[in-house]
Amino acid sequence: MADYRQMWTSLGMDLENHDKLCEVLPEVYTNVYLSQDNRPEGMDYFNFVVAEIHGVRPAELIEHQKKGGKVFGTFCIFVPDEIIFAAGGIATGLCGGSQFWVPGGEKVLPANTCPLIKASVGARLDKTCPFFRIADIYVGETTCDGKKKAWEILAEDVPVYVMDLPQMKRAKDIAAWEDEIKLFLAKVEETTGNKVTPEALGEKIKLINAKRKALARLHGARKNATLPISGKDVLLATQVSFYDDPTRFIEQTNSLCDEIEGRVAKGEGVFPADTPRIMITGSPMAIPNWKLHHIVETSGAAVVVEEMCTGSRYYENLVDETQTTLDGQIRALAERYMKINCACFSPNTNRITDIIRLAKEYKVDGVLDTNLKFCSLYATESYNVEKALKEAGIPVMHLETDYSEQDAEQLRTRIEAFLEMLR
Ligand code: SF4
Ligand code: SF4
Repeated sequence: MADYRQMWTSLGMDLENHDKLCEVLPEVYTNVYLSQDNRPEGMDYFNFVVAEIHGVRPAELIEHQKKGGKVFGTFCIFVPDEIIFAAGGIATGLCGGSQFWVPGGEKVLPANTCPLIKASVGARLDKTCPFFRIADIYVGETTCDGKKKAWEILAEDVPVYVMDLPQMKRAKDIAAWEDEIKLFLAKVEETTGNKVTPEALGEKIKLINAKRKALARLHGARKNATLPISGKDVLLATQVSFYDDPTRFIEQTNSLCDEIEGRVAKGEGVFPADTPRIMITGSPMAIPNWKLHHIVETSGAAVVVEEMCTGSRYYENLVDETQTTLDGQIRALAERYMKINCACFSPNTNRITDIIRLAKEYKVDGVLDTNLKFCSLYATESYNVEKALKEAGIPVMHLETDYSEQDAEQLRTRIEAFLEMLR
């Protein structure tokens, strides 16, 4: 990585502690990613993004701020990025995916909080992530209890705006989310000092839809019998999409798709033809959480689809682009976002329908139904997920894990046994 120490110092980061993170990441990345054979050349861009993860994009965000722009840090795929970009702001995902940040979160949160929340809080309070330092404001949501309480703690240190997400999907709930988006729009206008016009919002709706389409194309390449790219690589590109410049991300991802579609046409895969095809479903996997994908793909199987927020929930369903008034556009945003099937909703039967549909579309041999430790939403929903998969005759195994490496061997043993059963 180039020398960004001056930038990190000016962000008030704890350089000594941050150095420790910078020391371990390259080794982990080499082991998990660069060790793969026959990776598409288009992954070079994503290698570069990770190598410069605390440098290039943070420097761009700071440049944006120097010109008077604002940066919004988000933690959930319900937050409509379209509004932020339409007001001349930049949205960047902030979910923490590393064990490195967990102890920092545990200083203020109960140990039995999910690692995603602990890592996100730790990254802020320990001052070891530039993205968490740069964001002018954090946007939280009322999705799960741990997050709701974490916003209150973070709000002591950084401005936090919380969106009140309904937890049912009746017409009145969609209308309530529409109202929340209107309030959010007012907050974004106040923060940026810019008005959101229908023209600007229409343009950004098309931009974020284009990002969804690029991601759908990338993920969709794994529907083929020939798998032209690993699940790990698709996961990485998806994680990068949360904080990269959307226009650049779309270009790079579409160019990667051109390459891998070419591979499919030539029958060139990265796995042997009879490799078991696995779906992973459950809690999100924030960067650099590559643990389960790595274990699966070094145990003789391939991850071909992810029903999660770092997967299909993020890119499926587009916002209607035909609306020309702010009211119509906000309604269209509310309708699209309320199609996300997060386990915080009750009932959440559409998620089960999605899982069965995706299992068929991607011709999966088995499903790993997972949840992060202490994520009671996805842990509890696994009862219905597993019941439906068993009824559909699709093998399933439930796994609970965290960001540490302590359970890696145990997970590998269980996954290998599951794969053995599929063969
Ligand atoms: S799992 Fe639910 S709360 Fe978490 S990012 Fe996804 S939609 Fe948001
Ligand atoms: S993984 Fe579960 S507990 Fe953690 S933030 Fe997401 S919904 Fe909440």
